[in-house]
Amino acid sequence: MKAVQYREVGSAPEVVTVPDPEPGPGQVLLKVSAAGVCHSDIAVMEWPAEGFPYELPMTLGHEGAGTVAAVGDGVAGVAEGDSVAVYGPWGCGRCPKCAEGKENYCLRAAGLRIFPPGLGRPGAMAEYLLVDDARHLVPLGDLDPVRTVPLTDAGLTPYHAVKRSLPKLTPGSTAAVIGAAGGLGHVAVQLLRALTSARVVALDVTEEKLELARAVGAHETVLSDEHAAGRVRELTGGLGADAVFDFVGVQPSVDTAGACAAVEADVTIVGIGGGTLPVGFGAQAYEVCVSAPYWGSRGELTEVLELARTGALDVHVETYALDEAPRAYARLHAGEVRGRAVILPGG
Ligand code: NAD
Ligand code: ZN
Ligand code: ZN
Repeated sequence: MKAVQYREVGSAPEVVTVPDPEPGPGQVLLKVSAAGVCHSDIAVMEWPAEGFPYELPMTLGHEGAGTVAAVGDGVAGVAEGDSVAVYGPWGCGRCPKCAEGKENYCLRAAGLRIFPPGLGRPGAMAEYLLVDDARHLVPLGDLDPVRTVPLTDAGLTPYHAVKRSLPKLTPGSTAAVIGAAGGLGHVAVQLLRALTSARVVALDVTEEKLELARAVGAHETVLSDEHAAGRVRELTGGLGADAVFDFVGVQPSVDTAGACAAVEADVTIVGIGGGTLPVGFGAQAYEVCVSAPYWGSRGELTEVLELARTGALDVHVETYALDEAPRAYARLHAGEVRGRAVILPGG
């Protein structure tokens, strides 16, 4: 089968032919209908050879959806032909975190070398994907796999972040979203609109991107430069935002996030750009809570898909054939993708 692989450190992704996978006991084979392109892959492909955590070559793609093509011995609960989405942050399934469905925080995954598909294990950017366990599949039913597949990461990750801050997003509050036109950001704006009555202030780097943020529901937009935090404060009568979500995570955006946070605000750093925020008396406004979460739980993925079923989420996608995946990555790297790029291995 064809697969999109990261083959050696420092190289660009390539379309290659690899052996067709076969499901072993307990495993499920999916014929991939759609695979999302996440900016984290670009970060991974910029990591140095020293300490690189995954075996190469590696098939990319940690947002996957497909139809069940075959099941291994002992698999129950899914049948051939089912349309499913893949929960990506695989865990051991048994530790206290996994027992709560928080496989993203599995206590044993690192020790057991359990990796997500596309981030250590062969991923979804291929004609077929092997899933380790049926519990990592969520039925899609009538949901369109192409417009739904980004919800497995670009939806689930901001959903988890927003859900943590719901108690602070009361009527009259303000939420700021940095990187609001990106894959995660443009879903975050919609989640905030669907789940809260907060005023949503979107920050991104060009007028065109701010236009997308408005189209998906942002009340206000601010160009993300060194004056951005001041603009957010102006828009909030000097108080700042009650929750700030940073989907970029570079030092300038993290600085903006801290500088526009209100007293008792949550600052959630989702982007993996390496920026850090000092915490200590006087470093931020009083009682600001800073966190850096990773992905979301199995239960939260089910919730995001239920929300999608209500029609509340309009994921903007650009689609590409499998052979075009390297071009999708190049466009994402250049900041040219509108919403989420999605690869269609079927054609
Ligand atoms: P993306 O490229 O689709 O979106 C990034 C957006 O940020 C773009 O709209 C871009 O114009 C904007 N941007 C860039 N620099 C900016 C700045 N200084 N100020 C404001 N906006 C700026 O990326 P994505 O796939 O949505 O991923 C977003 C980030 O989240 C990446 O760092 C990714 O690695 C990370 N991520 C983290 C998790 C997690 O679990 N923590 C999960 C998925 C993705
Ligand atoms: Zn991702
Ligand atoms: Zn576990």
